[in-house]
Amino acid sequence: MLIVMDKDATPAQIDAVVAKIEALGYVAQPMPGGERTAVGILRNPGPVDPALFLDMPGVIQAIPVSRPYKLVSREMKREDTIITLPGLELGRERFVVMAGPCAVESETQALTIARAVKAAGARIFRGGAFKPRTSPYSYQGLGEEGLKILRKVREETGLLIITEAVDPDSLELVAKYTDIIQIGARNMQNFTLLRHAGQANKPVLLKRGMSATLEEWLMAAEYILSEGNPRVILCERGIRAIGEHARNLLDLATIPVVHKESHLPIIVDPSHAAGRRDLVPPLARAAVAAGCDGLIIEVHHEPDKALSDGAQSLYPDQFAALMEELQKLRPGGWH
Ligand code: PEP
Ligand code: MN
Repeated sequence: MLIVMDKDATPAQIDAVVAKIEALGYVAQPMPGGERTAVGILRNPGPVDPALFLDMPGVIQAIPVSRPYKLVSREMKREDTIITLPGLELGRERFVVMAGPCAVESETQALTIARAVKAAGARIFRGGAFKPRTSPYSYQGLGEEGLKILRKVREETGLLIITEAVDPDSLELVAKYTDIIQIGARNMQNFTLLRHAGQANKPVLLKRGMSATLEEWLMAAEYILSEGNPRVILCERGIRAIGEHARNLLDLATIPVVHKESHLPIIVDPSHAAGRRDLVPPLARAAVAAGCDGLIIEVHHEPDKALSDGAQSLYPDQFAALMEELQKLRPGGWH
């Protein structure tokens, strides 16, 4: 349930609502909005009687929240969430492109690619230092050394940094070094990791699990918000499907449906959906046309030598050409 306060409600009236919710044994989550404050009721095992609140001073409405995810739902918060990062914003009218290699391999590799993607208009550099690989024999990433390289990229280029955390230890390190913590498809339902991400003081990019339903994905985001971190960006990256023509099936329907169901921004990763570089531009264009809030794209200057995901990495000039096309498709609101 959501208790909506009058726009002139006093802090004392809001506190009284919070106190009543807590006295009932539930958790109160005040949500200040542009116009008015609302107070969410969480952890209530069954329906709450609206009459308990409707006669309290400053209360104008009590709205039942029907969805199983509460904090991420549009029912709880009508305005789009805008993710504020150093020097830029993501969400609503703010479109952001993140680009870089699948994995950080060396300082030269990372800096070469970072300079190229920056020149083409990307604002955030991606690159894994901790790689969750399907095979234990595949390249696992440089670990903390990779994070140090990413920090150097940030200092030298001014690009913000996103990188993946795979467990609570790496999450603590990633939160220290980077601007956005990535949680990968394979960890979307790693609830311990999600709770840790919810306690971090950095925004979290939550990829959709490779066979997760929309509800499971939003419930995973709910874990992060319920721990107190409201800065979550959802990322559609394709789901398992039949056929060998692409690595995954990019589920574009999630873009408008997430916008309906949730106030959180959603970006798209066409690279992991495609699995091959020729499909990345058309999928990126389709995602932009469907209304996503940003993209994350793999780029490598020597994809044939890449230690992971070379086949789906764009050459820097292909990325630059794609960025020009996308700017025509979506003329306003770029960061
Ligand atoms: C990645 O971004 O390199 C990655 C491993 O992606 P996903 O978790 O979507 O497979
Ligand atoms: Mn990859």
